[in-house]
Amino acid sequence: MNYRSTRNNAVSVQSAKAIAQGLSSEGGLFVPESIPKLTKEDILALCDKSYPERAFDIFKLFLTDFTDDEIRHCVNGAYLKNFDSENVSEISHLLTGTYILELWHGPTCAFKDMALQILPYLLTCSAKKVIDGKKIAILVATSGDTGKAALEGFKDVEGTSITVFYPEDGVSDMQKRQMTTQEGSNVNVCAIKGNFDDCQNGVKAIFTNEELKKILDDMNITFSSANSINWGRLSPQIVYYVSAYASLIKDGEIEYGDKINVVVPTGNFGNILAAYYAKQMGIPINKLICASNANNVLTDFINTGVYDRNREFYTTVSPSMDILISSNLERLLYHLTDGDDKTISEWFGKLSKEGKYSVTPEVLGKIKADFYAGCCNDTETKAAIKEVFEEYSYLMDTHTAVAYKVYKDYKAETGDDTKTIVASTANPYKFGKAVYEALGQNPEGMDEFTIIEKLEAYTGTKMPAPLAATKDKKVRFSGSVGKLDMSDVVLNFLTK
Ligand SMILES: *Cc1c(COP(=O)(O)O)cnc(C)c1O
Repeated sequence: MNYRSTRNNAVSVQSAKAIAQGLSSEGGLFVPESIPKLTKEDILALCDKSYPERAFDIFKLFLTDFTDDEIRHCVNGAYLKNFDSENVSEISHLLTGTYILELWHGPTCAFKDMALQILPYLLTCSAKKVIDGKKIAILVATSGDTGKAALEGFKDVEGTSITVFYPEDGVSDMQKRQMTTQEGSNVNVCAIKGNFDDCQNGVKAIFTNEELKKILDDMNITFSSANSINWGRLSPQIVYYVSAYASLIKDGEIEYGDKINVVVPTGNFGNILAAYYAKQMGIPINKLICASNANNVLTDFINTGVYDRNREFYTTVSPSMDILISSNLERLLYHLTDGDDKTISEWFGKLSKEGKYSVTPEVLGKIKADFYAGCCNDTETKAAIKEVFEEYSYLMDTHTAVAYKVYKDYKAETGDDTKTIVASTANPYKFGKAVYEALGQNPEGMDEFTIIEKLEAYTGTKMPAPLAATKDKKVRFSGSVGKLDMSDVVLNFLTK
């Protein structure tokens, strides 16, 4: 199985190259040239397997240039420890036929761990095959969850180092604590005087800085990225949708062949695209429900076929979805145009020049056949947290709450009573202040840990151990630098 670039069909590489390289050289994303199918027997056989075994079976279909031993090394390294649940992800029942797929049982309490625990293994394994001997310097720009999950994944991984940039005032208190107390000998964390876009642009500038590249070449180091444009981050996310379907069969909730809906709180479109791939593989998914917060560029796109990022940017209580450019949409559109690389290049060229593009009515029809989209504001998000806690004693984080509210709207609008999985992307204690407020309480003047104690007492729930542990950890990275000094930060760290 080879991987093509969404912007040039002449590019065809094996998975190791796609993962080691991250992005194709003309700016396209790597996509599988065909999507492997799971038969009824394949899916039923997964039911009695553990999560790492299920992951092994799926990866074997996509990473055909990896040996069985290599794949086993990757899945076992990532999923046999470091998660507080033996099942890696858990399914909670809200009411009959509505399931919450908890994807936050990893070391940083956000769903990013599902992919970033395994990415270092996939990347070092790929690098051995295609760029043997080089050290990998990972650079990450983060608005919170990705940075911490990447640090935790890459800490002390031989042959790698990682530098994370975050906006000084753009992350939650807990997210900042998680990053600044990060342990490990190969990690570096740096706050930027600027916003997330400044961090992202700074990282892009470093990736394309020829002078810096030359210096690193001489030191036998190459840059790589850990964000969700990398196939090595997307493919692990397909696994949990397939796995959830197998678990529902095993638990007697559904029978093989029964359809389910999947609701996903969406930002960069990586998580929901993984569910789309699961559907293409043969998991009987009815609707993929794309939930956005006030930054509802995807809601408008899925409803009208016009993608327009020229709009106000809102800072919301679900910050990991505060995003106006959803990179992974490019992969979906490549598939829906039957691999029309010229058209994709044209649309995404327009997006970078004019901030806008429109798809054809035919493509829009295909999108609507698979997807439904909706959005909600902060008030509605908070109301959903309160409602679900009061009705079902289940505490959701702010991102999961967006998904729940949009699902409720979908159900009211369509009357569709298909059994439904709501993807839960973060533990509520990562966003303690907003969650506490949502329950009608007043957190003004309290510090992060006081709010958390109050939240524990009020809800009878417990903060997860990895978050509690940050309280007594030493802050290792403090201060901040201007956005023009980012390349110096990287160079000083790598030459130290
Ligand atoms: C990253 C993130 C999202 C958005 O996921 P995408 O794959 O970018 O669409 C949603 N919720 C949380 C908590 C996240 O960290």
